[in-house]
Amino acid sequence: MKVNLLDLDAAGLTAFFAEQGEKPFRARQVLRWLHRFGQADFDAMTDIARSLREKLKTLAVVVPPAIIADRVADDGTRKFLFDVGGGNAVEAVFIPEEGRGTLCISTQAGCALDCSFCSTGKQGFNRNLTVAEIVGQLWQARHALHAYQGLDGQGERVISNVVLMGMGEPLANLEHTVAALRLMLDDNAYGLSRRRVTVSTSGLVPAMDRLRDECPVALAVSLHAPNDRLRDELVPINRKYPLRELLAACQRYLEKAPRDFVTFEYVMLDGVNDADAQARELLALTRALPCKFNLIPFNPFPGSPYRRSPSVRIRRFAEILIEAGVVTTTRKTRGDDIDAACGQLAGLVLDRTQRTGRRSFPLQLAVQEAVS
Ligand code: SAH
Ligand code: SF4
Repeated sequence: MKVNLLDLDAAGLTAFFAEQGEKPFRARQVLRWLHRFGQADFDAMTDIARSLREKLKTLAVVVPPAIIADRVADDGTRKFLFDVGGGNAVEAVFIPEEGRGTLCISTQAGCALDCSFCSTGKQGFNRNLTVAEIVGQLWQARHALHAYQGLDGQGERVISNVVLMGMGEPLANLEHTVAALRLMLDDNAYGLSRRRVTVSTSGLVPAMDRLRDECPVALAVSLHAPNDRLRDELVPINRKYPLRELLAACQRYLEKAPRDFVTFEYVMLDGVNDADAQARELLALTRALPCKFNLIPFNPFPGSPYRRSPSVRIRRFAEILIEAGVVTTTRKTRGDDIDAACGQLAGLVLDRTQRTGRRSFPLQLAVQEAVS
């Protein structure tokens, strides 16, 4: 079977060319063609000898995940739906803001961790995305946004930040996530700064340590509750890695992190985790850790047992944290008219798949206001 070159980071490409008896600089050249210039056609790789190009055609392909839907909201938020085979689709969302653009990408089809307020979790786990499918979301979004503009570095400005906050738990797909991150950071590929790439995790403690050692980028942790009793219920992985262990892992992560704080995400669920006393409990819990809070208004989905906290409640909760000196932002809801926040496109896929008899699941993605 031919190798998909988008599955290989710099080390992987070097090994691939070494197996063909080629020099390491060939790997660098091809890496630049693939990711700096978004080139998929070997014949266009003009500084590669014709004979090697012919050989590459027999050994390798360049295949990103196919875009099956692409919608733009009035506020410029753009949502892509990618086919990842077997009736599965994953989402990426581009969020343009003043002076920067953030792409939110997925790492798994479905998720096994079953958080009680998460639509992806409610659909169960399907499979890990490959490196080509993870980095391929960036590859495709760059093409769609005309952000591969050659040598002038324009592309880096269009998508300046990447957040792994789409479908799935990045640290449950650690190996592929790390290879994709390395490509995002590689100067011969996307050249993004570590501070502008954020991994969001529900708290897989051993994998947080591995990420810290293998490829430290900015870290966001889905906290959502101020004590183990409630977090056990909302984020079941807490039963395995309770708050004490999670906070200790955050502390260890900061030793090597590119930023000197951890961002805590906190979904605002009406009457569940949004009381004043819970804000104070949160402050006590996180006192020893340099952190910021990002409050996320809950995005309802069909069948979910929760309601979004009223905005006055969210404001009051934020005030308590801010008054105690903790930087706190509240996530804006973006792309409402294309329902970038929770799965209208999924409806389209379901319709389509019902017609063709394929299996699929509704998609959910909490659109992220950029974390940084
Ligand atoms: N699995 C990772 C990253 C993907 S989820 C994690 O859990 O961190 C990205 C963020 O969206 C997480 O903070 C998650 O808790 C939040 N989220 C999930 N479902 C949501 C919903 N229905 N409304 C608001 N935020 C939600
Ligand atoms: Fe998985 Fe994150 Fe959803 Fe929890 S919130 S089920 S970890 S995607």
